[in-house]
Amino acid sequence: VASIIVHGGAGAYDPGEAHRAVLAAAVHAGWKILDAGGTALDAVESAVVVMEDDPTFNAGLGSSLNLSGFVEADASVMTSDLSCGAVAGVTAAANPIRAARLVMERTDHVLLAGAGADEFVRRMGLPSRDLRTERRLALYEKNLAKLRAGEEIRFMPHLRGVAEELGFGTVGAVAVDGEGHIAAATSTGGLMMKLPGRVGDAAVIGAGTYANAFGGVSVTGHGEPIMRHLLAKAAADVIGDVGVREAIESVLELGRARGIGFGMIGAEENGAVGYGYTTQGMSWAYVRDGELRTFLDGA
Ligand code: ASP
Repeated sequence: VASIIVHGGAGAYDPGEAHRAVLAAAVHAGWKILDAGGTALDAVESAVVVMEDDPTFNAGLGSSLNLSGFVEADASVMTSDLSCGAVAGVTAAANPIRAARLVMERTDHVLLAGAGADEFVRRMGLPSRDLRTERRLALYEKNLAKLRAGEEIRFMPHLRGVAEELGFGTVGAVAVDGEGHIAAATSTGGLMMKLPGRVGDAAVIGAGTYANAFGGVSVTGHGEPIMRHLLAKAAADVIGDVGVREAIESVLELGRARGIGFGMIGAEENGAVGYGYTTQGMSWAYVRDGELRTFLDGA
């Protein structure tokens, strides 16, 4: 059974109906491809592109700004045959997920970062744009004033409780197609006010994104602990044994025990989907058997 699930980030407040509408549009874009017999890879890419193109999400246009006021976006994609690709710190790609896919398909590498990743985006002829929005610039100025008022300027001092401060907006998708192939994808501008050069979990295979023959996972939340514990791989590793829901539940347990603020979505070969979070909330939507469910409907 084909299925697709998407998330719009983990966070601490209600993201509301407008956010839900974009998630629904994204999951529909992916589902249309699956329904027409298309691949899981095409489905997750198109779902993520819809959210990257929407300025209210922290991915593509509308990405978070780093401490210098610039975008450094991370994205990754992986399929059930263990093919994978990622970009880190891309500054202007309209759709970082498309760059990640091209790293997977057109290079001998897994991860391109920084200036080389930007150069790759240009070389591949992918569209670029200024990803900064007025809303993000205003938030940046506000945060900068807060930082300046503080005694020490150190790495994200305003994020003592990162989980509490997380805003929704990172995006991800996991799909299973009619052939039983699985794909997972994640894209983000990363944490607001991060140090320039900081790479988060969304660029790291095994941390923000993972897929194998049994299932796929996309993670959102506080990137540093997600990387330390390779949460996407931790969940994917047990999907084959216990199914996607229990796999996610076991990782949530670990995350709660260690105080990690995060959320994840996943799907398994038979089309079952799952989601969960340790934060106050996470937005999600899925289509299974042609039927749409979203976080505002409840499970
Ligand atoms: N995981 C992302 C990061 O740490 C942020 C997020 O998911 O909201 O870069």
